[in-house]
Amino acid sequence: MAMNVKPVPTLDDEVNEIRLATAEIVNADILPNEDRLWGWLADSANATNEVKEEAKELRTQIQGKVKKAKLWAPHLPPEFGGMGLSFMQHAYMNEVLAYSAGASSLFGVVAPNSGNQKILVKYGTPDQHEKWLKPLTDATMQSGFSMTEPHNAGSDPRSLTTRAELDGDEWVINGHKWFTSNGYAADFYIVMCRTADPDAPGSDNDKMTQIIVPRKTPGLNIVRGVPVWGRSSSHCEIIYDNVRVPKENQLGRTGTGHQAAQDRLGAGRVYHCMNSVGSMWRAFDLMIDRLMTREVHGGEKLESKQFMQGFIADSYMDIQSARLMTIHCAEKMESGADPRTDISSIKVFVPQAYHRVVDRAIQVYGAAGVSGDLPLASMYQGARTLRIADGPDEVHKILIAKNVLRRYHAGESWDFGN
Ligand SMILES: Cc1cc2nc3c(=O)[nH]c(=O)nc-3n(C[C@H](O)[C@H](O)[C@H](O)COP(=O)(O)OP(=O)(O)OC[C@H]3O[C@@H](n4cnc5c(N)ncnc54)[C@H](O)[C@@H]3O)c2cc1C
Repeated sequence: MAMNVKPVPTLDDEVNEIRLATAEIVNADILPNEDRLWGWLADSANATNEVKEEAKELRTQIQGKVKKAKLWAPHLPPEFGGMGLSFMQHAYMNEVLAYSAGASSLFGVVAPNSGNQKILVKYGTPDQHEKWLKPLTDATMQSGFSMTEPHNAGSDPRSLTTRAELDGDEWVINGHKWFTSNGYAADFYIVMCRTADPDAPGSDNDKMTQIIVPRKTPGLNIVRGVPVWGRSSSHCEIIYDNVRVPKENQLGRTGTGHQAAQDRLGAGRVYHCMNSVGSMWRAFDLMIDRLMTREVHGGEKLESKQFMQGFIADSYMDIQSARLMTIHCAEKMESGADPRTDISSIKVFVPQAYHRVVDRAIQVYGAAGVSGDLPLASMYQGARTLRIADGPDEVHKILIAKNVLRRYHAGESWDFGN
């Protein structure tokens, strides 16, 4: 089923055109070819060279079409080869792009490279742009983001112990990371390092620095790809053992690492949530299609059963509320109002709604729902994972409660209209 995208009357012509042009490529070139593009990945060890070559050719063809339509790299400014979209335009494009999992890679957006590109744009020097950002954008290099550690709580980045110390003109890095996504393919990692003692004067937030570490640096040892959901993965465990890199590999000023991570996550959470909305949209379409065609006892269609009608209503409400909450949060960010409570709210609510919507679609499909023939099983795993990555649910709920209580303690109440 094609994605039904029409102009949104409250949006300006430019965003509507971007959404329609994106949907055209998703519907015409990606959805009908999902199997040829990615189907073989489920059993890549047994895939023939012919199948792989065909997928590669198809990818190149679609990427060419995307570039011709000027839809390449929506997350980057034009001077770095991107579309130069505004924050809201990018958010509205994402829900269309995410209708087909994997489509974003054909539009030049590949995590974690895309997040690293944004950090490099904002914090990188002209030399770093030339050396690291340009090859990332040309796809001649790959990257990873190395923050989480097995022995410290990733949900509290201030607890991280990976240490970088200056020795002359070099940073010397020692630490143990894991879940560095894209770890095997990466040519370099952006590593979150502690560059001041926890008890040194100053705020905890100013004691971290992000440092670029090329993969081939002596002392950088990839221990393994940590298996995820029962399968091997490229989310790597990495030991940094006296790794030496030039001082100029640090990103931004010393002590700005925490802020850079926040920059990466703030707007990123809106984009991720709009991606989840696009995925929910697909799961919903798939569910309705099955309800309208599957016959059960006595030849009745599933759509005639009230349990199933309840699924339609619940998923409709989940998608609408997730979408509107995300757009409201994005508008608040855009207007300069304090969006922190809303960012935490969408970070909790949207992945949970996504989880519920996909869960219902899987139930409707029965065994087919958990099979590799449909995108639902991998969506389900993605939705579950989102409740942990980028800050687990509980941490964001604590933040929401703190922000609310702070206001009431200050003698004010909450204004839900703003
Ligand atoms: C598929 C995947 C890809 C990832 N990719 C990357 C990557 O590329 N780079 C990277 O650096 N990291 C990556 N991560 C790691 C991710 O960012 C962390 O898993 C996340 O930040 C949570 O940290 P943690 O796993 O250490 O959990 P912990 O911080 O140990 O938290 C575990 C649980 O404890 C509970 N909890 C935590 N704090 C509180 C609290 N204050 N109050 C109540 N309950 C609490 C929550 O339920 C939480 O889920 C990835 C993770 C996954 C699953």
